[in-house]
Amino acid sequence: MHSKDASISLPWLRTIVASCLVVFSCSASAEWVERVEDGIMGTRIVVELWSDNKANGEAAVAAVLDEMRRIDAAMSTYKPDSELSKVNAQAAKQPVRISQELFDLLSTSIAYSNLTGGAFDVTYASVGFMYDFRQRVRPDEEQIRDALPGINYRHLILDPKTQTVKFAREGVRVDLGGIGKGHAVDRGIAVLQARRIKHALVSAGGDSRIIGDRFGKPWVVGIRHPDRKNEVIARIPLEDAALSTSGDYERYFDEQGVRYHHIIDPKTGRSASKVRSATIIGPTATRTDGLSKTAFVLGPEKALELYNTLEDVDAILVAPDGRVLYTKGLEAPPQE
Ligand code: ADP
Ligand code: MG
Repeated sequence: MHSKDASISLPWLRTIVASCLVVFSCSASAEWVERVEDGIMGTRIVVELWSDNKANGEAAVAAVLDEMRRIDAAMSTYKPDSELSKVNAQAAKQPVRISQELFDLLSTSIAYSNLTGGAFDVTYASVGFMYDFRQRVRPDEEQIRDALPGINYRHLILDPKTQTVKFAREGVRVDLGGIGKGHAVDRGIAVLQARRIKHALVSAGGDSRIIGDRFGKPWVVGIRHPDRKNEVIARIPLEDAALSTSGDYERYFDEQGVRYHHIIDPKTGRSASKVRSATIIGPTATRTDGLSKTAFVLGPEKALELYNTLEDVDAILVAPDGRVLYTKGLEAPPQE
């Protein structure tokens, strides 16, 4: 439903060529601006855009990166002075007044918990904080058992009147790593739209959103093979859409044949491994990010059942046995 047939009939081609000639002759300084920035939100940010003038394009990219830094400063759990760290430190004792933006993102997170039957749950961090995939650290059985009751989105009590959040019990922690990048990408796109940019891509780690097309053709986003980094399992043409991919190969370590990775099943506090990767295509990156973890927890069949009920969403899943599964809206490519 979001893909477009890339074949173009001759009259259309003539129109496109003619309009390109007009663009290039009228605005000789128009520029394609690209920037890759590492480190914000612990990930790689990519911004690409078409601007009528290079200086405006560069300023627009800088504004997107500033917006991402602002969100990172407020919502990172790695920064002890972030707004979210303050919530984690205080909300078990008393309601904590928070910004409208954080309040709204927590409300949205709870909505995704409801939609996914609790597979998406930002309180996963009540156990999740004990994993350090870079250092190959994981909680033991007893630590998981003790901390597990802290995971439950129903422990988050939001009061719109006072704009506060309170935790219903001790031992609850929130981490927005599963939705914050999608939100940041949507904010980045909003910054560009306010500057009247019509053709752009913004991505943060596995979350991307596109406005317009790329030189008259759809953008083409590749989905990588879970084990072979440089191999692509599908190429998706997109215009005016968002796409998020979650994979068990992003942040992980292997120990005695078991893969410990960053997507956690809220029911068990352990890595959720019912798929190897999940790609969601939809209207906003907050939505696609909010849905891409779910397949790991629910498994391919139940996840596809859920995604197929959502009219604005498509998905491509890689099962543990390597099968590639698609929602109804995407046609499977011909088998070799
Ligand atoms: P990326 O960091 O590239 O956006 P994902 O979108 O796949 O990757 O998000 C993975 C992150 O989601 C984890 O690092 C963790 O912070 C968070 N997370 C893990 N399990 C859950 C879950 N069950 N519900 C919500 N968020 C989760
Ligand atoms: Mg994400």
